[in-house]
Amino acid sequence: MQNIIVSKFKEIFGTGCALYAAPGRVNLIGEHTDYNGGYVLPGAIDKAIYVAIKPNGGAKARIFSVQNDEMAEFRLCESDIPAFQWARYPFGVCMEMIKRDGRVEGFDAVVSGDVPLGAGLSSSAALCSAFAFALNDIFGCGFERAELALIGQSTEHNYEGVKCGIMDQFASIFGRKGNIIRLNCNTLDYEYIPFDPESAGYRLVLLDTRVKHELASSAYNRRRESCENAVEAIRKRHPEVEVLWDVEPDWLEEVRGEISAEDFKRAEYVTGEKQRIQCFCEALEEDDYETAGEMMYLTHEGLSKLYEVSCPELDFLNEVACHESVTGSRMMGGGFGGCTINLVGADRYDAFVDAAKTEFAAKFGHEPSVYDVVISDGARKL
Ligand code: ADP
Ligand code: MG
Repeated sequence: MQNIIVSKFKEIFGTGCALYAAPGRVNLIGEHTDYNGGYVLPGAIDKAIYVAIKPNGGAKARIFSVQNDEMAEFRLCESDIPAFQWARYPFGVCMEMIKRDGRVEGFDAVVSGDVPLGAGLSSSAALCSAFAFALNDIFGCGFERAELALIGQSTEHNYEGVKCGIMDQFASIFGRKGNIIRLNCNTLDYEYIPFDPESAGYRLVLLDTRVKHELASSAYNRRRESCENAVEAIRKRHPEVEVLWDVEPDWLEEVRGEISAEDFKRAEYVTGEKQRIQCFCEALEEDDYETAGEMMYLTHEGLSKLYEVSCPELDFLNEVACHESVTGSRMMGGGFGGCTINLVGADRYDAFVDAAKTEFAAKFGHEPSVYDVVISDGARKL
């Protein structure tokens, strides 16, 4: 991959480029927790976006995308927004850096990568992080890593219209081999948690249902509302509560009769997830991947039955994992499609992946895509 990009750069722009990478991410546990004041536990993966780049001394950015086989060219001003959708990510990154007084000048770049697009591994965050990290370095802008993550997030908000949280960009920038990140998305407090399943005889594999049901955004807003309703009811007794994360398990029970059964279920999922995250982290301290895996199954059950953001395809893959004795399995991401993330004993891997492909295809008419992932380093110069 690196060689292809560098030789492409030579072919189009000449010699002397620097090479940068920023990875996609997975999230081990902590789903729908970010807007409830809680933790997520993402890790960067061994699939990345690569950028070969060099200042060109002019006023224009020229970027060739290997995957799209397209050249985007823009001046570094708001009015010159590129027509190619993919190019709005690097364009947005430049604009967001300039807004923050970063000195970005003309440059030439070639971009490519092996993060699958639109599969829930955050190729878009990787793309933003790769450019933010590279531009910061070649022009000596002096942004801290956290600011680079925020620049990526603002790019998605302001130049692609995606109102995402900070997890993806944060993981792509801060990732560390052999560790996942316990991150509070509101405060950006974070801690590295050692996570090295391969050395304990496990593998991480994602199975992509390749479906996306169109419920996602309205359902998402309704879930947020339910969580707010629960907080409001609990606050009458416990005024210190601001988000569901502040709630003790028995405080929720106190308001069972005061909120709708639906709001109660949603809140029950969130308070449960808080306990599961704690248990997951404690298990990892002991290298106890079996207990960690159990928490992943329980999270799936909560997302499916209480939070109700799963779908038949995800539930099916979760059941296959269960009957193939996979250690941990759950749907990953907002829901209604996308991938399951699976922690599987190396000796169970082949049987599981074969069974998942065959049984899923028999029921849904197509095979899931399979992505092996290893937790790896975040954005870096190569
Ligand atoms: P996800 O982030 O889950 O992979 P998104 O829809 O948010 O899915 O982002 C995918 C978009 O990111 C693509 O449509 C494209 O615009 C951009 N992108 C990702 N990887 C690349 C790449 N290697 N080259 C050019 N654009 C890319
Ligand atoms: Mg994305």
